[in-house]
Amino acid sequence: MSRRDELATALAQVRERIDTARAAAGRSDDVHLVAVTKTHPASDVQLLAELGITDVGENRHPEARDKRAEAAVDSLTWHFLGGIQTNKAGQIARYADVVHSVDRPKLVAALDRGAVAADRTLRCLVQVDFDRTNPGRSGTPPESVESVAELIDRAERLELAGVMAVAPLDVDPAPVFEQLQAISARLIHRWPDATIISAGMSNDAEAAIAHGATHVRIGRSILGERPQNR
Ligand SMILES: *Cc1c(COP(=O)(O)O)cnc(C)c1O
Repeated sequence: MSRRDELATALAQVRERIDTARAAAGRSDDVHLVAVTKTHPASDVQLLAELGITDVGENRHPEARDKRAEAAVDSLTWHFLGGIQTNKAGQIARYADVVHSVDRPKLVAALDRGAVAADRTLRCLVQVDFDRTNPGRSGTPPESVESVAELIDRAERLELAGVMAVAPLDVDPAPVFEQLQAISARLIHRWPDATIISAGMSNDAEAAIAHGATHVRIGRSILGERPQNR
């Protein structure tokens, strides 16, 4: 089977899963699919775009920058999903369209400076962390979401677009996605345009869609397995 046929088959299965989960949740709104292409070549990005993908996700700099340049597909929206060191934020601001991993005041300031310098506008999601046992994870605790959101809203070239979370491994993801949905509702009350809920990956997309995810981030189920820890 060609790589194109392989991706087409996997993509059809993922779209089917999303539709089934939407129907099960009684939702008539759209669930956007972000294809997570990290570790996979720019040629896969081009094939996915031909197969109708409009949104791709990457989690590391400079891999994301180089792949965007090499793929050179104008129609794509590029989502940055990974933890960001403050000193890399300025570079990421030059090419990312949506940043899902905004979790602290210093990062907000650095992304905004980078966006101003590049004369671009970045859509930003506040990443929420529900796993207090693991301090190495990206994300801000639920009680600080609003203060990070406020800084994004006040920034010159950042737009507050919503919230994002990665469910901790080895626990039932449903309660996490339920809490994220509640946090999103509070944010929307104050910022009506911050409607994105980015939640759900290959192994928990159904649970996320049941709890209002507007964007699912799917890698392995579309592109296949990656090297460990990526
Ligand atoms: C890698 C990654 C994904 C995709 O995970 P899969 O299990 O491959 O679907 C989604 N979100 C983030 C933040 C990631 O780093």
